[in-house]
Amino acid sequence: MVRISNFTVFFSNYIYMSLFAYFLWKSVANKDENKPRRLYIIYGLSMLGIVLLIISQFNRMFYNFDSQNVYHRGTAYIVTQLIAIIGIAINFTILLQYRKRLEKTIFYAMLSYFILPAIATVIVIIHYGLALQNLALVISTQIMFFVDLLEVSQKLDKTEVAVLEARYAAEHDSLTGLYNKVTGMDMIKEYIENMYSDGKASLCFIDIDNFKDINDIYGHMEGDYWITEISRMLVGICRKDDIVCRFGGDEYLLFFKDLADDKILESKINCLNGKLNAKADEIGKEIHCSIGICKIIGNKHTFDDCLKKADDILYDVKKNGKNSFGIQAV
Ligand code: GH3
Ligand code: MG
Repeated sequence: MVRISNFTVFFSNYIYMSLFAYFLWKSVANKDENKPRRLYIIYGLSMLGIVLLIISQFNRMFYNFDSQNVYHRGTAYIVTQLIAIIGIAINFTILLQYRKRLEKTIFYAMLSYFILPAIATVIVIIHYGLALQNLALVISTQIMFFVDLLEVSQKLDKTEVAVLEARYAAEHDSLTGLYNKVTGMDMIKEYIENMYSDGKASLCFIDIDNFKDINDIYGHMEGDYWITEISRMLVGICRKDDIVCRFGGDEYLLFFKDLADDKILESKINCLNGKLNAKADEIGKEIHCSIGICKIIGNKHTFDDCLKKADDILYDVKKNGKNSFGIQAV
């Protein structure tokens, strides 16, 4: 058992030297980058060490055991240490050369693979008999594993945030934070397509009146301000799962789910107008909007029909003097 353990310690140290080199290179290499020659030298040294270790089982050049099963170093013992030292030194040069490609924490964790065994070696030289190098290697491996795991989980978190941010940017209007036209239309379309025969909803097409004048008289920034303010007011008259989107320019779509009651719709629009008037009065400006509301009852209607209806109603409201709303069923 002692002999097998001893063989395994030497054997696994050589394997570990190559595995570390492989791990190090994988950590620093760019995609499709050629491996440095030094990496193959480390692999070669590991192979050489293992071959010599096997030969040593027969000629006892590295170590041997006496009849009491006590371990003794062989005449070529120094060769085992030289192979390991050269291999570790080459690994060290690779780590130093490519350190800038590593996160600082990973670099320091990998440095422990060199520093801890070096300290252990000094202690072993002073107190012969303690197998501290292997303990040092185990500890440094655990440090690297832990730091790497932490780094991977942080990267995953960052990727998740980046994906969510990209998705938000793709689905929302950057000025108002409302859904953009494509996303809003898709959501409304999906709802209408899945309505039951007793289902109901209302699609409102909203357009700010004389918005060009606001831009022309007060400037584009003021125009942006009102686009944003009105978007907030629209959200304010909605329930949580209703849909509001910026259709483009000074136009919005507002979709009330499960609502097609004239009185409630009127009260919601009055509430919106009340807020808008109050805000406009507060700063002494005249701003209002026109709204076409299409009530959808049952499951026989397409989104395009509903949108066209709401647009037609809006057109009539504009034609008849603006600052008002119209409600009709599709
Ligand atoms: P109407 O009452 O008939 O709707 O007249 P209008 O002046 O509002 O005309 P229309 O709705 O066609 O004009 C929309 C204007 O909105 C045109 C464009 O210059 C302006 N606009 C579009 N996008 C933005 C934006 O992001 N910010 C600002 N400030 N203005 C915008
Ligand atoms: Mg307008």
